[in-house]
Amino acid sequence: MSTPIDLLITRGVVLTLDPQRRIFADGAVAVQDGRILAVGQHADLEAQYAPRRTIDARGGVVQPGFIDCHVHLSQHLGRGTIPDLWPESREHEQWLPYWTQITQEEARSSALLACMEMVRNGTTCFCDNGGRFAGELNAEVIEEVGLRGILSEVCWDQPPHPSVAVGDTEACLRRLERLARAFPKRPEARVWAAVSMAGMGMCSDRLLVEGKALADELSAFMDMHQSFGPEDVARYREHANGKSAVAHLAGLDVLGPNLQLVHMVHTFPDEIPLLATSGTSVVHCPAASARMGMGVSRTGRVSELMRAGVNLALGSDSGNYSDFFDVGRQLYLTAVLHREARGEQPCISAEQVLEMATRNGARALGVEQWTGSLEPGKQADLVIHDYGRPEWRPGLDPVTSLVYSAQSTGVDTVIVSGRIILEDGRFPHLDEERLYYQIDQTARALHGRMGWIPQHRWPVL
Ligand SMILES: [Zn+2]
Repeated sequence: MSTPIDLLITRGVVLTLDPQRRIFADGAVAVQDGRILAVGQHADLEAQYAPRRTIDARGGVVQPGFIDCHVHLSQHLGRGTIPDLWPESREHEQWLPYWTQITQEEARSSALLACMEMVRNGTTCFCDNGGRFAGELNAEVIEEVGLRGILSEVCWDQPPHPSVAVGDTEACLRRLERLARAFPKRPEARVWAAVSMAGMGMCSDRLLVEGKALADELSAFMDMHQSFGPEDVARYREHANGKSAVAHLAGLDVLGPNLQLVHMVHTFPDEIPLLATSGTSVVHCPAASARMGMGVSRTGRVSELMRAGVNLALGSDSGNYSDFFDVGRQLYLTAVLHREARGEQPCISAEQVLEMATRNGARALGVEQWTGSLEPGKQADLVIHDYGRPEWRPGLDPVTSLVYSAQSTGVDTVIVSGRIILEDGRFPHLDEERLYYQIDQTARALHGRMGWIPQHRWPVL
């Protein structure tokens, strides 16, 4: 007698990313009440269960959804406004007017666009470093799109840019606490809050220490940018009497498994053991560094961090750095960038980058018990790729195909907590054409008020 269940995904190449990293070449995943009930051979599960719905993966790879550990939902309407010949030092010329002009409704459009892009590219869980407006607004958008998302409201209490900052240390802490208490982390929650700091010398030691204490108290985590450019590193050394950033953070006692440092483009050898022994996660954003020529492949020491056992995850960052929210492209860059820069073979393998994009991301966000792999008891957060595409053939090794040749446009189905939020490459519950039109109109109105004029290098007729 077969057991009735909600959903059975059959005939897929199932990459479990479980502790043994098992791959079922003709596999299946059984889903009940939003959770994974079983993963195994297609023939075994089909004999065992009577599903109310079946999805035939038709030989496509079935994987745990990607986890994007660092994005800025609020900056997507500004995508495409920084010429690629600008140095990073001029970025504030774009984002300061953007942040002072953007309205709540425009920020909502930006978040919607960002969330839709993540789903379309196979992401099921992400962490937003926070934006200008109330996190409640982003919570609504995350629910509407159907993702699993961690929201926040980014804080800093030191110069520069006081015109768009939250305010003093007290104001920052009140804001962070309000949000963390409004959106607590719970096993079934799809939206909850983190404690986000701008980092990079823009936060006082008191804000970092008390923010981390808040994260500890509420079983949340704290995320912050760190060591992106050489100026950040120099400013930190001055602030910390010559110590490196990580050594200074260790002195403040804020390192730990519930801290994630984003970027670490400039990493020094003495920082690596501090990160490894404390369990602090590093979120690698290769496109954000490469787009601006910041140097992560030269100074990021990513392979050394990996060898030392530091938990490394991946992030897309923002609309004007990487320009895309696509973990599949981030993991390809991670696999090839460091190998090319170092001339080392092997350097970072396809299997390792896939771990960064799934299991490690879940660990960095403190949710490895719920998501990040396809195992019984975990949330059914998964992606099915379309095998009916040339880039997947001849399909001799699913991991190398996924990392090196697959394209995110081949993502066919995305499921979060057992709910199908992308099907045949379309959003079944969203009117895409209408939303894209509205997003274009909203962005044009915003940039019109900013007085921004496109700087085309070729004639646009
Ligand atoms: Zn960022």
